Amino acid sequence: MDIEQFRKAGYQAIDRICDYYYSLNDKPVVAQVEPGYLRRALPESAPEQGEPWSAVLSDYEKLIVPGLTHWQHPSFFAYFPTASTFEGMLGDLLSSSTANPGFNWLASPACTELESVVMDWAARMFGLDRTFHNESKVGGGVIQTTASDSALTAIVAARTRYLEQHPGTPLEALVIYVTTQTHSFGKKAGLVLGLRVRALEVRAEDHWALRGETLGAAVEEDHRKGLHPFILIATVGTTSSGAVDHVADVGATIKEKFPSLWLHVDAAWAGVTLACPELRETAQLAGINEYADSLCVNFHKWGLTNFDASAFWVRDRNLLINALDITPEYLRTKHGDEGTVIDYRNWHLSLGRRFRSLKLWFVLRGFGVEGFQAYIRRCISLNNSFADYIRASAIFELITPPSFALSVFRLRPDASTSESASLDELNALNRAFVAAAQTQHGILLTQTDIDNVLCVRFAVGAARTEVGHIENACKLLEEVGMHCLAGKKVGTSA
Ligand SMILES: *Cc1c(COP(=O)(O)O)cnc(C)c1O
Repeated sequence: MDIEQFRKAGYQAIDRICDYYYSLNDKPVVAQVEPGYLRRALPESAPEQGEPWSAVLSDYEKLIVPGLTHWQHPSFFAYFPTASTFEGMLGDLLSSSTANPGFNWLASPACTELESVVMDWAARMFGLDRTFHNESKVGGGVIQTTASDSALTAIVAARTRYLEQHPGTPLEALVIYVTTQTHSFGKKAGLVLGLRVRALEVRAEDHWALRGETLGAAVEEDHRKGLHPFILIATVGTTSSGAVDHVADVGATIKEKFPSLWLHVDAAWAGVTLACPELRETAQLAGINEYADSLCVNFHKWGLTNFDASAFWVRDRNLLINALDITPEYLRTKHGDEGTVIDYRNWHLSLGRRFRSLKLWFVLRGFGVEGFQAYIRRCISLNNSFADYIRASAIFELITPPSFALSVFRLRPDASTSESASLDELNALNRAFVAAAQTQHGILLTQTDIDNVLCVRFAVGAARTEVGHIENACKLLEEVGMHCLAGKKVGTSA
């Protein structure tokens, strides 16, 4: 493809994207294909001769689009949102066009400098303490691929710090602390690093949030066993139920009793709510600012920025660099040696990196802080109207109070009477309910398990969800729920 062919093909591709967004509302949310559909449709090997662009684009439309689950569909309420924007898309497009791996300052000064500025913009928007700002030259922010990578990076830095403070600690005595509600990346990091992971118990009456007391007891118990917990991953907005750990309480326990325990706060989904001053207390800003060693907020979830853009801040950049800096001769530069610039390759695991700050810059400029706040507030308000519907319903009940823009509920035949079905019966009923709801083309939601209770998650956040989509979802869930109850006489005979 030459430049003029690209010009034409590029316009065509943008036209297709616009058509796709116009048609999104009328598409089934979930792909209607069977496993293996694409292998059957594609040739066994790449073509010997290059093919014309028109053939490729037409196959994209014919073969790929039908196999997509439409995460940008306004009735997508599954998992967590991945709210994309045209600003973000254009940022990604231009970033692709520069095709550079930006690993150090000299590799493309604009990549490093823009990232360091937009991460400060984001830090200001979220009200983060100045030590987290790049401008402070103490801590700083870097864009990682995912929250999983951010946590892994934090764990590696924490391990180095701990081993420096406690030389000779055997690796097999080190322990990563998570809670039973922490994202599965905690266990995965344990697998990757070959380290123990302990999941602290949290309780229903605390709405599944971790308290300092629980942490303190666990550390003392492990110390008696000769173990060395060195990092705690606390969560603001857990994946299952949106639980918010008591960061200030946990942080105070760490500071007072176990100062070598690193506190990483995973706010992958809910951290964007820090943009709204009225939500900062719930989102634990004071605790984060006072005690966290590192923090992660995914812009690529509920932050209007196209996948991937995981914002990661550390209180002390030297702890990262200490753990991750390897500088072979071919990567040495004058500015790097002088320490006058950021070399982001020392702030994460890989060397090369995408120019992700461009899309975040476009999004923050396009929306402004006020536009960003308005979007977060709108999602929460839509979720509140969904939660009101569940509260008023005779067949559903909330399992936990709604958290930001997430509601967790279940079908309950006797919600309005004193009769009760067994847990097993209710779980089976809800499994059937989710399966039935997932056959509906007009909506997608997913299930979770909280302490052996099978629940249904309803997460609002697609950029184009309106109140009508919520009303429609309520109507649809009511129909499916009634249908499930009619089919299974669970609870009525108890
Ligand atoms: C989504 C999510 C993660 C994982 O995010 P990735 O960026 O896909 O790794 C981790 N923690 C929480 C709380 C999440 O919501």
